[in-house]
Amino acid sequence: MEHKNGFQLNEEEVDEFLKKIKSSDIYKSKFVEFKITLIYMIVGILWIIYSDRLLVMMISNKDIINKIQTTKGIIYVLFTALLIYILMVKSFERIRYLSKESIGRYEELEAAYEELNAMQYELQDQYDEIQRSNEALKKSKERYKYRANHDYITGLYSIIKFKEIINKHIRDIKYNEKFVLVYMDIDNFKKINDIMGHELGDLFLRNIANELRKIAPKNAHICRMGGDEFIMLIPNVNDFNDIDLIMRNFLEKFKKNWSIQDRNFYVTLSIGISMYPEHGKDYESLLKNADIAMYEVKNTTKNSFYIYNEKLNLNMLNLLEIEELLREGIENEEFYLNYQPKINLRNAKISGFEVLVRWVNNVRGFVSPAEFIPVAEKTGLIIQISDFIFEQAFETLHKWNSLYSFEQSLSINLSIVQFQDGKLLEKIDYFIEKYELNPNFIEFEITETLVMENFEYINDILGEFRKRGIKISLDDFGKGYSSLNYLKELEIDIVKIDKAFIDGLLTNNKEKYIVKAVIDMAHSMGLSVVAEGIESLEQLEFLQLNACNKAQGYLFSKPLPENEARRLLEEGKVFRY
Ligand code: C2E
Ligand code: CA
Ligand code: CA
Repeated sequence: MEHKNGFQLNEEEVDEFLKKIKSSDIYKSKFVEFKITLIYMIVGILWIIYSDRLLVMMISNKDIINKIQTTKGIIYVLFTALLIYILMVKSFERIRYLSKESIGRYEELEAAYEELNAMQYELQDQYDEIQRSNEALKKSKERYKYRANHDYITGLYSIIKFKEIINKHIRDIKYNEKFVLVYMDIDNFKKINDIMGHELGDLFLRNIANELRKIAPKNAHICRMGGDEFIMLIPNVNDFNDIDLIMRNFLEKFKKNWSIQDRNFYVTLSIGISMYPEHGKDYESLLKNADIAMYEVKNTTKNSFYIYNEKLNLNMLNLLEIEELLREGIENEEFYLNYQPKINLRNAKISGFEVLVRWVNNVRGFVSPAEFIPVAEKTGLIIQISDFIFEQAFETLHKWNSLYSFEQSLSINLSIVQFQDGKLLEKIDYFIEKYELNPNFIEFEITETLVMENFEYINDILGEFRKRGIKISLDDFGKGYSSLNYLKELEIDIVKIDKAFIDGLLTNNKEKYIVKAVIDMAHSMGLSVVAEGIESLEQLEFLQLNACNKAQGYLFSKPLPENEARRLLEEGKVFRY
């Protein structure tokens, strides 16, 4: 074992040390002592006997013999003493050497012992450290488990945990017991997030989660799906009337003004509901169907709830199919444009055309824009389709301008997605330059809902258009918010009364008042008024009587292909009735 100070203690060395001791003369001293003593005794006795005999043989004088014997004795003693001295010196040297060596070894052993001691402390420290990290590990495991089971922003259940809860609920469910899955999506949360920034957006989500927790039925479990989507399991709901009651109550309680950093927000939820076992016997199908039902609410009323049914699923499949076909349609250039004239009611002449996109697909045949435009908007495909519309429409405008000194407007419908794209102004400038267009003859139609998505941002862009001389028309007016407050601030030139009001002119007196009031109000604000969807003379007469500026509808003309629309221009068509 090697230690920090380089001291090494191995078995071989210990053995060698013991061997040395064993092989040393000292170790074998019993025999040496005996041998030396024996030799000494024999030599001594022989010396005494033979030296005495020799003396007697050589010398006769007794006195001399006595003297020599004394000297001999002294010499013997001296010799013996010398021998003893040498032996002792040698023995002590060895003892000293061995004890020195032992001391060295002892010191080494002591050092090793200290080293071991130190090692033991170190091991203890390491053990404590391991113990501590074990505890930390345990804690982080718990934390990890909490995190896996809970959403980090709102503290609600995570999808993983929620799925577990539902699966367990389904496993343990009693015969005939039912439950519902509630899929909730905050309406226009993106807008709120954009205005407030993500940090405040997160805080807002947390507040909403707390509110949901508060107003949910006591036995419900809630989870955040991610983004602004939440799901809730409500156990023991056994019929549709119960769902209705619970959800009405839920939405009612959710109604409140949210105030964050001195800004007030009114938040609504779109909710889809699926029921076990009618709409699915496992988590996945229940979730999918609740999502489909939610989607339906999102696309229609918002701020409401819808219970899943088979028909919705068909709608959904239809949407997916349209999306697929749209992609192919863009690639195969299956789109073209129609132009529907707008009539100036003062002289019955054409004062412009509205551009309406058409799609004839080889599988589905003619698909109405009312059906595919919403899908194209949702999937972002509207950008590519609109690029095509711009190209075609502006080319036509350029052509008509040079052929007939066409001094009327061509109006193009715009989608919210085109504003969000961020490249709209740039594109329009590009086309104005490319086709040398007079912007005064370009008109854009936008809807109220589009503007309300992000009022300031969109109004700024509209302002930019108007600076260039482009006209802005507020389409489908009356259908949405119709708030007069923002109408004053909105950068528009024209109000286009929604077809529903024009339809109502035939049967409903109330509609007549509304249309008259809209025309008067628009005029008082310096705006021009267009009525759309005119199919009868009766409607036309009412509008003429009330000084509506322009009209558009099947009474005059359906949307036409470019060559037919051009023919009307060539004729200098005047509509007389
Ligand atoms: P919108 O902008 O309100 O267009 C008017 C719709 O009413 C058109 O339907 C037009 O064909 C139809 N219409 C016009 N006069 C009459 C009439 O007298 N009676 C009846 N029953 N209908 C009439 P269309 O072309 O099917 O377009 C439907 C919607 O699709 C449009 O409503 C617009 O929102 C959207 N859309 C159409 N073309 C485009 C486009 O090029 N771009 C964008 N973004 N949206 C478009
Ligand atoms: Ca329109
Ligand atoms: Ca319209």
